[in-house]
Amino acid sequence: MSTTLAVRENTHERAKSRTMKALVFKGPNNLHLEQREIPRPGYGEAVIRVTLTTICGTDIHILKGEYPVRPGLIIGHEAVGVIHELGPGIRGYEVGDRVLVGAITPCGQCNFCLSGNSSQCGGAIGGWKLGNTINGVQAEYALIPHAQANMAKIPDLLTDDQVVLLADIASTGFSASESARVKIGDSVAVFAAGPIGLCAIAGAKLSGASRVFAVDSNPNRLSQAFHMGADDTIDFTRVDPVKEILALTDGRGVDVAIEALGKSETFESALRVLRPGGVLSSLGVYSGKLAIPLEPFAAGLGDHKIVTTLCPGGKERMRRLIELILHNRVDLTPLLTHEFPLDRITEAYELFGNQRDGVLKVAVRVGA
Ligand SMILES: [Zn+2]
Ligand SMILES: [Zn+2]
Repeated sequence: MSTTLAVRENTHERAKSRTMKALVFKGPNNLHLEQREIPRPGYGEAVIRVTLTTICGTDIHILKGEYPVRPGLIIGHEAVGVIHELGPGIRGYEVGDRVLVGAITPCGQCNFCLSGNSSQCGGAIGGWKLGNTINGVQAEYALIPHAQANMAKIPDLLTDDQVVLLADIASTGFSASESARVKIGDSVAVFAAGPIGLCAIAGAKLSGASRVFAVDSNPNRLSQAFHMGADDTIDFTRVDPVKEILALTDGRGVDVAIEALGKSETFESALRVLRPGGVLSSLGVYSGKLAIPLEPFAAGLGDHKIVTTLCPGGKERMRRLIELILHNRVDLTPLLTHEFPLDRITEAYELFGNQRDGVLKVAVRVGA
């Protein structure tokens, strides 16, 4: 055995026996960075050394106790990393490969997956496992389930920052137009220009929309909406967005309205700007009740379609999204407005959770 190899293997062995830092949900409003055992992969699993992760709006719901997960769970579901260890049964990957893992990690083999609804793997919302039903990725290392179906190799030309947002918000945001089957020349209105709405705007453009309206009240977000491809930005605190969009479409309404906030009001506005036969594509996560006003819904006779989409995941989805970055169809790096090391991730939660300092998404660097 050569000395270099011996040294490398020793380092590897040491790494394997170490513990790691991980962000653990202890209970509502209580996240704690603590030491955990580095996971070991079982059959069909892999362990990645996380290099970059980010915080999602859903993580804030978990932190506040609005979305229940079990105390003791490591949270986080968006990860770029390097393969650290492969369990048996994984082919075509090697330790050291850089990979992107989607927020949704479907098995690829159950009835739901094979019916084309892999985000609903095994049952409702079942594709979302990381940081929900199993330990997540806001840690130095993370166990990836169904690894063969969920690790997308990252081309050397691309940085971690360029691809990390594909794991969740871009996959979700783009899916709004895909689920609505946006056609070349369609007009699209996007309600709310947070990180997912901004990606929905980019997705509408990628899908061939001729005109994209963005509705929000935050000037930073509206200007970012413009950079992501919106043609008209509408501040709902200054004008009634429904009247404005109807006026700008000569009373016709838009072909597709995307709801990217999860509020009954924006859902209703999305319906009110929709042309008869149009598609309301909903990305929001709602609570309480959703009301459908009958007049824009033509009392149920308007041929409207309402579609919902949970973030598409799996390695083929990630590969396709990586291709968009590789060939300069979209640049998501302007959405990474802030940066923290894993050691200061609770500060990152504080900033992101309170939407301070114009934050859109936070890059959390691990092991840097
Ligand atoms: Zn998320
Ligand atoms: Zn499945």
